[in-house]
Amino acid sequence: MTRTVRVDLGARSYDIAIGAGLLAAAGDAMKAVLSRPRVVIVTDRNVADAHLGTVEASCVRSGIETAAIVLPPGEATKSFAELEHLCGALIDRRVGRDDMILALGGGVIGDLAGFAASILRRGVDFIQAPTTLLAQVDSSVGGKTAVNVPQGKNLIGAFHQPRLVLADVAALDTLPRREVLAGYAEVVKYGLLGDRGFFDWLEVNGPALIEGDRAARIEAVARSCQAKARIVAADERESGERALLNLGHTFGHALEAEGGYDGTILHGEAVAIGMVQAFELSARLGLCNGQDVERVRRHFTAVGLPVRPADRGLDGVPAERLLHHMAQDKKVRDGRLTFVLVRGIGEAFVTRDVEAPAVSAYLSGEA
Ligand code: NAD
Ligand code: ZN
Repeated sequence: MTRTVRVDLGARSYDIAIGAGLLAAAGDAMKAVLSRPRVVIVTDRNVADAHLGTVEASCVRSGIETAAIVLPPGEATKSFAELEHLCGALIDRRVGRDDMILALGGGVIGDLAGFAASILRRGVDFIQAPTTLLAQVDSSVGGKTAVNVPQGKNLIGAFHQPRLVLADVAALDTLPRREVLAGYAEVVKYGLLGDRGFFDWLEVNGPALIEGDRAARIEAVARSCQAKARIVAADERESGERALLNLGHTFGHALEAEGGYDGTILHGEAVAIGMVQAFELSARLGLCNGQDVERVRRHFTAVGLPVRPADRGLDGVPAERLLHHMAQDKKVRDGRLTFVLVRGIGEAFVTRDVEAPAVSAYLSGEA
């Protein structure tokens, strides 16, 4: 059973195919969007060990020539140095305007290979084959690509939409459980920001999904992609509604920065805590009822996600420090923080009306 979600962007529209075993049939799936039978695969060492052979064999069967570039795994790979190295390697493999780059991996590979594709020869087509749950429900969809610089994450990048996304839930079988859970936090985000019925469904089916249930994974990835595709189609360059996707991210980014991006706290874990905090702050401001906050906390706890900074040893960080991290965020304009708050589960909204002292009082635990 393969599901297809269309991202509607006029001439740059593309399909997201979601199913089990798509990498083993990648050659045929990609053919329709290739101008010639050649694909240059960009991946990382972990993903190459688990899945590169499957993709290459499928391409051979479909008469597609392949070359592979294997990069080191980890967030550090999203750097200018690796970008330069990757662009050089693509040029050495004579990648031209009519070639196709295949980003096979998690968000790190998708963001880096996508950005390389956007600038190489002023733009080469690429396909996303996301292999983490986070990449399948979030980073592979929507066309944001980037690298990090010492001043901050994702500060250098481009919008470059893929030609096709192949989300194979079978690829998740080799993903470490902690990474599955981190990606699951972003799945829950779609329910919390705009689809209460999806959150109800996740309360029932989330545990099976996390344990590896294929049908539940396909359903959850498809519903998440539908939600993201709809928001991206309405607001490709994040001038309005797309900011809803940042639910939990203003708080979450502050925790990630405090954690130092060294594995202390994964992005999805920070977002889980950040979403609980967005609910708590909303309740404190009288916008949302306490039962909804409790439901969110209970669900994350039930599946094994953290719900407070202390769950990752990040308690006791002064509120000013967290606010300082938040102020570094791209989402600050005229010195005012943009927050995504909620009126309840499934009812998020974007606001710039929250005063820093109110956030500070909440973060310091003042009554
Ligand atoms: P990742 O790409 O680092 O992958 C996590 C780990 O899992 C890595 O060690 C990787 O080698 C390994 N891995 C990947 N697939 C595997 C598989 N199938 N089996 C075994 N191991 C596997 O991290 P991620 O969480 O996928 O992505 C995080 C990145 O995504 C961040 O850089 C973030 O900024 C970016 N991101 C981008 C967007 C966007 O819109 N472009 C959105 C959200 C996040
Ligand atoms: Zn995120």
